[in-house]
Amino acid sequence: MAKRDFYEVLGVAKAASADEIKKAYRKLAMKYHPDRNPDDKSAEEKFKEANEAYEILSDEDKRAAYDRHGHAGVDPNMGAGGFGGGGNFSDIFGDVFGDIFGGGGRGGGGQRSSRGADLRYTLELSLEEAVRGTKVQIRVPTQVACEVCDGSGAKKGTMPETCRTCAGAGQVRVQQGFFSMAQTCPTCRGRGKTIKDPCNACHGQGRVEKTKTLDVKIPAGVDTGDRIRLSGEGQAGANGAQAGDLYVQVQVRDHEIFQRDGADLYCEVPISFADAALGGELEVPTLDGRVKLRIPEGTQTGKLFRLRGKGVSPVRGGGPGDMLCRVLVETPVQLNKRQKELLREFQQTMDDDGSKHSPKKSGWFDSVLNLFGDK
Ligand SMILES: [Zn+2]
Ligand SMILES: [Zn+2]
Repeated sequence: MAKRDFYEVLGVAKAASADEIKKAYRKLAMKYHPDRNPDDKSAEEKFKEANEAYEILSDEDKRAAYDRHGHAGVDPNMGAGGFGGGGNFSDIFGDVFGDIFGGGGRGGGGQRSSRGADLRYTLELSLEEAVRGTKVQIRVPTQVACEVCDGSGAKKGTMPETCRTCAGAGQVRVQQGFFSMAQTCPTCRGRGKTIKDPCNACHGQGRVEKTKTLDVKIPAGVDTGDRIRLSGEGQAGANGAQAGDLYVQVQVRDHEIFQRDGADLYCEVPISFADAALGGELEVPTLDGRVKLRIPEGTQTGKLFRLRGKGVSPVRGGGPGDMLCRVLVETPVQLNKRQKELLREFQQTMDDDGSKHSPKKSGWFDSVLNLFGDK
Protein backbone atom coordinates (compact mmCIF):
# COMPACT_ATOMS: atom_id res chain seq x y z
CA MET A 1 0.00 0.00 0.00
CA ALA A 2 1.37 3.39 -0.98
CA LYS A 3 2.07 5.66 1.92
CA ARG A 4 0.31 8.98 2.05
CA ASP A 5 2.33 12.17 2.09
CA PHE A 6 3.13 13.07 5.71
CA TYR A 7 2.06 16.68 5.24
CA GLU A 8 -1.18 15.49 3.75
CA VAL A 9 -1.69 13.12 6.69
CA LEU A 10 -1.42 16.00 9.15
CA GLY A 11 -3.29 18.38 6.87
CA VAL A 12 -0.59 21.05 6.95
CA ALA A 13 1.30 22.97 4.30
CA LYS A 14 4.85 21.98 3.31
CA ALA A 15 6.07 25.21 4.86
CA ALA A 16 4.21 24.62 8.14
CA SER A 17 6.01 25.71 11.31
CA ALA A 18 6.92 23.23 14.04
CA ASP A 19 4.12 24.69 16.08
CA GLU A 20 1.53 24.20 13.36
CA ILE A 21 2.65 20.61 12.92
CA LYS A 22 2.36 19.96 16.62
CA LYS A 23 -1.10 21.50 16.76
CA ALA A 24 -2.33 19.55 13.75
CA TYR A 25 -0.98 16.34 15.23
CA ARG A 26 -2.59 16.93 18.60
CA LYS A 27 -5.92 17.48 16.93
CA LEU A 28 -5.71 14.22 14.99
CA ALA A 29 -4.36 12.29 17.94
CA MET A 30 -7.24 13.50 20.10
CA LYS A 31 -9.75 12.52 17.44
CA TYR A 32 -8.37 9.07 16.62
CA HIS A 33 -6.94 8.05 19.98
CA PRO A 34 -7.81 4.37 20.57
CA ASP A 35 -9.17 5.16 24.03
CA ARG A 36 -11.77 7.28 22.33
CA ASN A 37 -12.42 4.86 19.48
CA PRO A 38 -12.43 1.42 21.02
CA ASP A 39 -12.50 -1.42 18.47
CA ASP A 40 -12.39 1.00 15.55
CA LYS A 41 -9.80 -0.33 13.12
CA SER A 42 -9.85 2.64 10.78
CA ALA A 43 -9.38 5.10 13.65
CA GLU A 44 -6.45 3.06 14.87
CA GLU A 45 -4.91 3.14 11.39
CA LYS A 46 -5.36 6.90 11.19
CA PHE A 47 -3.86 7.27 14.64
CA LYS A 48 -0.80 5.27 13.66
CA GLU A 49 -0.47 7.18 10.43
CA ALA A 50 -0.60 10.53 12.25
CA ASN A 51 1.98 9.26 14.75
CA GLU A 52 4.34 8.24 12.04
CA ALA A 53 3.97 11.53 10.18
CA TYR A 54 4.52 13.46 13.38
CA GLU A 55 7.56 11.48 14.36
CA ILE A 56 9.24 12.49 11.11
CA LEU A 57 7.97 16.03 10.69
CA SER A 58 8.61 16.99 14.32
CA ASP A 59 12.28 16.14 13.98
CA GLU A 60 14.24 18.74 12.05
CA ASP A 61 16.73 16.29 10.55
CA LYS A 62 14.18 13.66 9.65
CA ARG A 63 11.91 16.29 8.17
CA ALA A 64 14.71 17.67 6.02
CA ALA A 65 15.51 14.15 4.79
CA TYR A 66 11.87 13.55 4.05
CA ASP A 67 11.54 16.86 2.18
CA ARG A 68 14.49 15.92 0.00
CA HIS A 69 13.88 12.26 -0.66
CA GLY A 70 10.29 11.58 0.33
CA HIS A 71 9.49 8.34 2.12
CA ALA A 72 12.75 6.86 0.92
CA GLY A 73 14.58 9.53 2.88
CA VAL A 74 13.42 8.25 6.23
CA ASP A 75 14.13 4.80 7.52
CA PRO A 76 11.05 2.71 6.74
CA ASN A 77 11.52 0.77 9.94
CA MET A 78 11.37 3.83 12.09
CA GLY A 79 7.81 4.91 11.80
CA ALA A 80 5.36 2.18 12.53
CA GLY A 81 4.89 3.90 15.86
CA GLY A 82 2.25 2.01 17.78
CA PHE A 83 1.51 2.78 21.35
CA GLY A 84 4.19 4.08 23.64
CA GLY A 85 6.52 4.25 20.67
CA GLY A 86 8.85 7.18 20.14
CA GLY A 87 9.76 9.63 22.84
CA ASN A 88 7.56 12.32 21.38
CA PHE A 89 4.56 10.22 21.95
CA SER A 90 4.58 10.25 25.71
CA ASP A 91 5.93 13.79 25.93
CA ILE A 92 3.09 15.28 24.10
CA PHE A 93 0.52 12.95 25.53
CA GLY A 94 1.49 13.74 29.05
CA ASP A 95 -0.10 17.12 28.76
CA VAL A 96 -2.76 16.52 26.20
CA PHE A 97 -4.17 13.34 27.60
CA GLY A 98 -2.87 13.12 31.13
CA ASP A 99 -6.14 14.12 32.64
CA ILE A 100 -8.52 12.87 30.04
CA PHE A 101 -7.28 9.32 29.80
CA GLY A 102 -5.37 9.03 33.01
CA GLY A 103 -6.98 8.34 36.31
CA GLY A 104 -8.16 4.93 35.12
CA GLY A 105 -10.86 2.71 36.52
CA ARG A 106 -13.47 5.26 37.36
CA GLY A 107 -16.99 4.26 38.14
CA GLY A 108 -16.54 0.73 36.96
CA GLY A 109 -19.23 -1.34 35.35
CA GLY A 110 -22.87 -0.79 36.08
CA GLN A 111 -22.50 2.26 38.31
CA ARG A 112 -20.95 4.28 35.51
CA SER A 113 -24.08 6.14 34.55
CA SER A 114 -24.77 7.57 37.99
CA ARG A 115 -21.27 8.91 38.55
CA GLY A 116 -21.33 12.69 38.96
CA ALA A 117 -20.34 14.90 36.05
CA ASP A 118 -16.86 16.37 35.72
CA LEU A 119 -16.75 20.12 36.03
CA ARG A 120 -14.40 22.62 34.52
CA TYR A 121 -13.38 25.86 36.12
CA THR A 122 -11.34 28.44 34.21
CA LEU A 123 -8.87 30.15 36.48
CA GLU A 124 -7.23 33.36 35.33
CA LEU A 125 -3.74 33.96 36.66
CA SER A 126 -1.20 36.69 36.20
CA LEU A 127 2.08 35.65 34.62
CA GLU A 128 3.85 36.05 37.97
CA GLU A 129 1.34 33.77 39.72
CA ALA A 130 1.68 31.16 36.99
CA VAL A 131 5.46 31.24 37.10
CA ARG A 132 5.85 31.21 40.87
CA GLY A 133 2.84 29.13 41.80
CA THR A 134 0.15 30.31 44.15
CA LYS A 135 -2.72 29.30 46.34
CA VAL A 136 -6.18 30.41 45.36
CA GLN A 137 -9.66 29.95 46.69
CA ILE A 138 -12.28 29.27 44.13
CA ARG A 139 -16.04 29.16 44.53
CA VAL A 140 -17.73 26.50 42.50
CA PRO A 141 -21.46 25.99 42.13
CA THR A 142 -21.98 22.27 42.24
CA GLN A 143 -24.15 19.49 43.51
CA VAL A 144 -22.90 17.80 46.63
CA ALA A 145 -24.04 14.76 48.50
CA CYS A 146 -27.01 15.62 50.72
CA GLU A 147 -25.83 15.85 54.31
CA VAL A 148 -29.20 14.98 55.77
CA CYS A 149 -29.40 11.53 54.20
CA ASP A 150 -25.68 11.04 53.50
CA GLY A 151 -26.47 10.91 49.82
CA SER A 152 -28.76 7.91 50.01
CA GLY A 153 -31.89 9.91 49.15
CA ALA A 154 -33.89 8.06 51.82
CA LYS A 155 -35.43 9.85 54.80
CA LYS A 156 -33.28 9.89 57.90
CA GLY A 157 -33.66 6.66 59.79
CA THR A 158 -34.76 4.71 56.73
CA MET A 159 -32.73 3.00 54.07
CA PRO A 160 -33.24 2.57 50.34
CA GLU A 161 -34.66 -0.87 49.71
CA THR A 162 -33.54 -3.39 47.20
CA CYS A 163 -35.81 -3.07 44.19
CA ARG A 164 -38.33 -5.88 44.09
CA THR A 165 -38.86 -5.79 40.37
CA CYS A 166 -35.24 -6.50 39.47
CA ALA A 167 -33.96 -7.84 42.80
CA GLY A 168 -31.29 -5.16 42.79
CA ALA A 169 -29.83 -5.96 39.38
CA GLY A 170 -31.04 -2.74 37.80
CA GLN A 171 -32.07 -4.68 34.74
CA VAL A 172 -34.97 -6.89 33.85
CA ARG A 173 -35.26 -9.41 31.06
CA VAL A 174 -38.13 -8.95 28.68
CA GLN A 175 -39.41 -11.66 26.37
CA GLN A 176 -39.85 -10.41 22.81
CA GLY A 177 -40.88 -13.18 20.51
CA PHE A 178 -38.08 -15.69 20.62
CA PHE A 179 -35.66 -13.30 22.19
CA SER A 180 -35.06 -12.40 25.75
CA MET A 181 -33.71 -8.88 26.08
CA ALA A 182 -32.24 -7.01 28.99
CA GLN A 183 -33.80 -3.65 29.74
CA THR A 184 -33.28 -1.05 32.40
CA CYS A 185 -35.61 -1.80 35.29
CA PRO A 186 -38.64 0.51 34.98
CA THR A 187 -39.25 0.55 38.74
CA CYS A 188 -35.85 1.73 39.98
CA ARG A 189 -34.56 3.13 36.64
CA GLY A 190 -31.48 0.99 36.87
CA ARG A 191 -30.43 1.92 40.36
CA GLY A 192 -31.30 -1.42 41.86
CA LYS A 193 -32.82 0.29 44.89
CA THR A 194 -36.07 2.06 45.59
CA ILE A 195 -36.80 4.74 48.13
CA LYS A 196 -40.07 4.50 49.96
CA ASP A 197 -39.64 7.61 52.12
CA PRO A 198 -37.62 10.20 50.21
CA CYS A 199 -35.39 12.58 52.14
CA ASN A 200 -37.05 16.01 52.45
CA ALA A 201 -33.87 17.97 51.97
CA CYS A 202 -32.97 16.52 48.56
CA HIS A 203 -36.33 15.08 47.47
CA GLY A 204 -34.82 11.66 47.17
CA GLN A 205 -32.04 12.76 44.78
CA GLY A 206 -29.26 12.23 47.30
CA ARG A 207 -27.62 15.50 46.29
CA VAL A 208 -28.26 19.20 46.67
CA GLU A 209 -27.11 22.39 44.95
CA LYS A 210 -24.40 24.20 46.79
CA THR A 211 -21.63 26.67 46.20
CA LYS A 212 -18.48 25.32 47.67
CA THR A 213 -15.20 27.02 48.34
CA LEU A 214 -12.05 25.12 47.51
CA ASP A 215 -8.42 25.85 48.22
CA VAL A 216 -6.38 25.12 45.14
CA LYS A 217 -2.63 24.93 45.10
CA ILE A 218 -1.25 26.04 41.75
CA PRO A 219 2.23 24.59 41.17
CA ALA A 220 4.97 26.89 39.91
CA GLY A 221 5.48 26.97 36.16
CA VAL A 222 1.96 26.29 34.89
CA ASP A 223 0.89 27.84 31.61
CA THR A 224 -2.29 28.50 29.70
CA GLY A 225 -4.01 25.20 28.90
CA ASP A 226 -2.66 23.30 31.89
CA ARG A 227 -5.26 21.62 34.02
CA ILE A 228 -5.24 20.67 37.62
CA ARG A 229 -7.54 17.85 38.56
CA LEU A 230 -9.26 17.92 41.90
CA SER A 231 -10.40 14.37 42.27
CA GLY A 232 -13.94 13.95 43.53
CA GLU A 233 -14.66 17.70 43.62
CA GLY A 234 -17.00 17.63 40.64
CA GLN A 235 -20.69 16.94 40.80
CA ALA A 236 -21.87 14.45 43.37
CA GLY A 237 -23.12 11.19 41.93
CA ALA A 238 -26.78 10.28 42.18
CA ASN A 239 -27.74 8.27 45.23
CA GLY A 240 -24.34 8.12 46.80
CA ALA A 241 -22.47 7.17 43.61
CA GLN A 242 -18.94 8.41 43.02
CA ALA A 243 -18.51 12.14 42.50
CA GLY A 244 -17.02 13.54 39.30
CA ASP A 245 -13.76 15.49 39.17
CA LEU A 246 -13.19 19.19 38.98
CA TYR A 247 -10.72 20.44 36.41
CA VAL A 248 -9.16 23.79 37.07
CA GLN A 249 -8.08 25.09 33.70
CA VAL A 250 -5.32 27.66 33.79
CA GLN A 251 -5.57 30.79 31.68
CA VAL A 252 -2.64 33.18 31.97
CA ARG A 253 -3.41 36.85 31.38
CA ASP A 254 -1.30 38.90 28.98
CA HIS A 255 1.57 40.66 30.69
CA GLU A 256 2.45 44.29 30.11
CA ILE A 257 6.15 43.58 29.58
CA PHE A 258 6.74 39.88 29.08
CA GLN A 259 5.52 37.31 26.65
CA ARG A 260 6.01 33.69 27.48
CA ASP A 261 6.90 30.95 25.05
CA GLY A 262 7.21 27.67 26.91
CA ALA A 263 10.13 28.10 29.27
CA ASP A 264 11.39 31.30 27.66
CA LEU A 265 10.35 34.83 28.39
CA TYR A 266 10.56 37.53 25.82
CA CYS A 267 10.56 41.31 26.18
CA GLU A 268 11.28 44.38 24.16
CA VAL A 269 13.59 47.05 25.53
CA PRO A 270 13.58 50.49 23.96
CA ILE A 271 17.00 52.15 23.99
CA SER A 272 18.18 55.54 22.83
CA PHE A 273 20.05 55.98 19.59
CA ALA A 274 23.06 57.26 21.55
CA ASP A 275 23.14 54.22 23.87
CA ALA A 276 22.90 51.92 20.86
CA ALA A 277 25.81 53.65 19.18
CA LEU A 278 28.04 53.94 22.24
CA GLY A 279 27.14 50.67 23.93
CA GLY A 280 26.92 50.32 27.68
CA GLU A 281 24.99 48.73 30.43
CA LEU A 282 21.22 48.58 30.44
CA GLU A 283 18.91 47.63 33.24
CA VAL A 284 16.38 45.14 31.98
CA PRO A 285 13.46 43.65 33.87
CA THR A 286 13.10 39.99 34.76
CA LEU A 287 10.47 38.37 36.90
CA ASP A 288 12.96 38.39 39.77
CA GLY A 289 13.78 42.07 39.47
CA ARG A 290 16.17 44.08 37.37
CA VAL A 291 19.39 42.72 35.96
CA LYS A 292 22.20 44.37 34.05
CA LEU A 293 22.62 43.70 30.36
CA ARG A 294 25.77 44.82 28.52
CA ILE A 295 25.23 45.89 24.96
CA PRO A 296 28.19 46.37 22.65
CA GLU A 297 29.03 49.49 20.70
CA GLY A 298 27.12 49.81 17.46
CA THR A 299 24.16 47.66 18.51
CA GLN A 300 21.50 47.64 15.80
CA THR A 301 17.79 47.85 16.42
CA GLY A 302 16.07 44.48 16.68
CA LYS A 303 19.12 42.73 18.13
CA LEU A 304 18.13 39.92 20.44
CA PHE A 305 20.04 39.35 23.69
CA ARG A 306 19.75 36.17 25.68
CA LEU A 307 19.93 36.07 29.45
CA ARG A 308 20.44 32.42 30.28
CA GLY A 309 18.33 30.88 33.00
CA LYS A 310 16.22 33.99 33.55
CA GLY A 311 13.12 32.42 32.03
CA VAL A 312 10.57 30.10 33.56
CA SER A 313 10.98 26.66 35.14
CA PRO A 314 8.16 24.69 33.49
CA VAL A 315 5.80 22.75 35.70
CA ARG A 316 6.70 19.45 34.03
CA GLY A 317 10.33 19.80 34.94
CA GLY A 318 13.43 20.71 32.98
CA GLY A 319 15.57 23.64 33.91
CA PRO A 320 14.59 27.25 33.60
CA GLY A 321 14.44 28.77 30.15
CA ASP A 322 16.02 32.03 29.03
CA MET A 323 15.02 35.64 28.95
CA LEU A 324 15.18 37.08 25.46
CA CYS A 325 15.46 40.85 25.24
CA ARG A 326 15.03 42.53 21.91
CA VAL A 327 16.44 46.05 21.90
CA LEU A 328 14.59 48.59 19.82
CA VAL A 329 16.42 51.76 18.97
CA GLU A 330 14.14 54.71 19.40
CA THR A 331 14.41 57.70 17.10
CA PRO A 332 14.49 60.85 19.26
CA VAL A 333 11.42 63.08 18.98
CA GLN A 334 10.53 66.67 19.91
CA LEU A 335 14.06 67.92 19.59
CA ASN A 336 14.81 71.52 20.50
CA LYS A 337 16.79 73.87 18.30
CA ARG A 338 20.11 73.10 19.90
CA GLN A 339 19.64 69.37 19.68
CA LYS A 340 18.73 69.66 16.01
CA GLU A 341 21.83 71.71 15.36
CA LEU A 342 23.98 69.14 17.07
CA LEU A 343 22.47 66.37 15.04
CA ARG A 344 23.01 68.24 11.76
CA GLU A 345 26.59 68.86 12.76
CA PHE A 346 26.92 65.22 13.72
CA GLN A 347 25.46 64.12 10.40
CA GLN A 348 27.96 66.33 8.58
CA THR A 349 30.88 64.60 10.33
CA MET A 350 29.38 61.25 9.32
CA ASP A 351 29.10 62.29 5.67
CA ASP A 352 32.67 63.56 5.72
CA ASP A 353 33.83 60.07 6.60
CA GLY A 354 32.15 58.55 3.56
CA SER A 355 29.91 55.54 4.15
CA LYS A 356 31.81 53.66 6.82
CA HIS A 357 29.42 54.58 9.68
CA SER A 358 26.33 53.21 7.94
CA PRO A 359 27.34 49.94 6.27
CA LYS A 360 23.79 48.73 5.93
CA LYS A 361 22.55 51.95 4.38
CA SER A 362 25.33 52.18 1.83
CA GLY A 363 24.94 48.51 0.93
CA TRP A 364 21.27 49.10 0.41
CA PHE A 365 21.91 52.08 -1.85
CA ASP A 366 24.28 50.02 -3.94
CA SER A 367 21.54 47.42 -4.41
CA VAL A 368 19.11 50.09 -5.52
CA LEU A 369 21.60 51.42 -8.03
CA ASN A 370 22.12 47.92 -9.37
CA LEU A 371 18.40 47.37 -9.58
CA PHE A 372 17.92 50.32 -11.87
CA GLY A 373 21.17 49.85 -13.74
CA ASP A 374 22.29 53.39 -12.81
CA LYS A 375 25.76 52.41 -11.83
ZN1 LIG B 1 -31.16 13.92 51.32
ZN1 LIG C 1 -35.36 -2.37 39.87
